[in-house]
Amino acid sequence: MSSTDRRETRSCVSCGINISGTNAAAFKCPECGNQIYRCAKCRKQSNLYECDDCGFTGP
Ligand SMILES: [Zn+2]
Ligand SMILES: [Zn+2]
Repeated sequence: MSSTDRRETRSCVSCGINISGTNAAAFKCPECGNQIYRCAKCRKQSNLYECDDCGFTGP
């Protein structure tokens, strides 16, 4: 089993945990449309997110 394709990795942009299989929120960066995932915990705490594509940060 190998998952080397980073584009397929779904991890929380705020805390970095692997969120596959969890009820994480998925949304698109308002700046560039990059898909962003945030885990339920960070969503609850309204942690900041940062787009790894354009560097946009938001609540
Ligand atoms: Zn998180
Ligand atoms: Zn972006």
